[in-house]
Amino acid sequence: MDEVARVREKIDLPSLISEYIPLKKMGRNFKALCPFHNEKTPSFVVSPERQIWHCFGCGKGGDCYTFLMEYEKLEFIEALRILARKAGVELSETDFVKQGTSQKEKIYKLNNLSSDFYHFVLTKHPLGKKALSYLYKRKISPKLIETFKIGYSPGRGYALSKFLIEKKKYKPSDLLESGLSFSKGGRIVDFFRDRIMFPIYDHRDNLVAFSGRILREERESAPPLAGSKYVNTRDTLAYHKGSMFFGLNLAKEEIKKNSRAIIVEGEFDVISCYSQGIKNVVAIKGTALTENQVSLLSRFAEKVTLCLDQDEAGFEAIKRSLAALEKKDLTTTIIDLGTFKDPDEAIKKDPLFFKKALKKDIGIYDFLIDSFLNKFDRQTGEGKKKITGNLLPFISLIDNEIVKEHYLKLLSLRLEVTFDSLLKELEKVLRKEAQIPEFPIGKDKKTRKEILEEYLTSLIIQGKNPKEMAALVFKNLSDYSFDTPSYKKILENLTAYLARNEKFDEKKFAKTLPKEILPLFDICFLFSLPKIEDDKKYQEEVEKVLDELKVLNIRNKIRSISQNLNQRQPKERLVLQKELDSLLKLLRAVNSASKL
Ligand code: ZN
Repeated sequence: MDEVARVREKIDLPSLISEYIPLKKMGRNFKALCPFHNEKTPSFVVSPERQIWHCFGCGKGGDCYTFLMEYEKLEFIEALRILARKAGVELSETDFVKQGTSQKEKIYKLNNLSSDFYHFVLTKHPLGKKALSYLYKRKISPKLIETFKIGYSPGRGYALSKFLIEKKKYKPSDLLESGLSFSKGGRIVDFFRDRIMFPIYDHRDNLVAFSGRILREERESAPPLAGSKYVNTRDTLAYHKGSMFFGLNLAKEEIKKNSRAIIVEGEFDVISCYSQGIKNVVAIKGTALTENQVSLLSRFAEKVTLCLDQDEAGFEAIKRSLAALEKKDLTTTIIDLGTFKDPDEAIKKDPLFFKKALKKDIGIYDFLIDSFLNKFDRQTGEGKKKITGNLLPFISLIDNEIVKEHYLKLLSLRLEVTFDSLLKELEKVLRKEAQIPEFPIGKDKKTRKEILEEYLTSLIIQGKNPKEMAALVFKNLSDYSFDTPSYKKILENLTAYLARNEKFDEKKFAKTLPKEILPLFDICFLFSLPKIEDDKKYQEEVEKVLDELKVLNIRNKIRSISQNLNQRQPKERLVLQKELDSLLKLLRAVNSASKL
């Protein structure tokens, strides 16, 4: 386990995290919008000194391993391998590493072997002939077949499973877990049969799944048992529908370079674009962009251009993708394909037209306004109601007020209604949406005492004179019981540490803390404190918190005594009453002292 620590030592956490999200220096820490929950003001903090991160919004936090695991949805062993490579640490082949081949890695390997198999059958085997000529007919060159590693799954139903079990010595259970085969009457059967095979890679080049297409054109009538046009690998450990794109592995760098991603519906659309040198293209492999897909794209692109099929379903997909796109603040545009039904057809029939259309992309809101104005009669009251009823929910998604106003004005002009009445209707939409609860944050509400204890500990740890301030706490809170005893433990350890050491070194100090308390210390270390001008003001702030804690403590005691008072024996009651009186006196004294 030594290697785990060595890798962690060598990785600089802020530079690692800034490869994924933009970090801004704020004081001695870095801040960012949290990648793990939706927010408008940054509460995600990274400390270069402590090499830790924490989000004050959703409560997630940790070190380089937890960040990578969380962000890339990895198991520990995968994160370790990636970071070791980055750090230049060679992992010894200990049992831990060897056995640590994750389930996911096993699936990637099986998928790679299967992809080789399918590709071989398509390009070299007589069984693949029919499929190959189908691809040639669709103008897919041998070079493109190579680039996308397209393959063919034979129709017999056992070829791949037999190859993997007999030649490659895999267990049937491995095949079932990978989704490549299924069990039918006790036999292992290939999942994909008689289909053109498109491998789907994630953005880290792992082969996570396949998409298989039947060999016939849509207009040909379907034989009753042929199945749907496209079939994807079912959800496995390595693949979740709605979180991947076809082509992202090849398009990633090009998308980064252009800061723009073109989104199409299917594999053939991507491949056709590619044949024309347009390489920042991915296919959604589903009906609309999901939030997972958008957050993946937002790592590489600032602008997304939707180029979906020109039919009712494509229009619905645009509408449904929009909320996810707006949440990530991506600029979204649309391509008008005229009379062509999809990008593949447009490119095959008129590549020049397609390239021009790409350059003349339309803002998504302009497009939606146009579409609804054409769909309903804008001369009648009923038509106006339908147009605004359809459009305002989308316009309400716009985060930027100026952009929002621009489109409202445009709409008021074209509908010949006043800006005011549009605003009123928009407010109704917003009110309706406000009733839906926001992103739930899995955290209980803290008590005032807990909040103050956290703030106090942060003030002391981050302050210039932790020794004096800690002494001040114990002098004032001798009779105080902590709602979160871990803060008390941190302050006690701090006092002990500063009795032995001249200077406060947070790394050395952290080592004196029990493991279960460390995360709380990290949180206090990263806590955003208000700006406090000088040492005197700093001490006053600490004293102010101490006073309030004292008052809360006394109030709690008073409450607990008075609650039980009536159930006690008369003798006991007398003692308690006395105690109560003195507490009330104390409360008055503290209150008047803190008012001075
Ligand atoms: Zn968060």
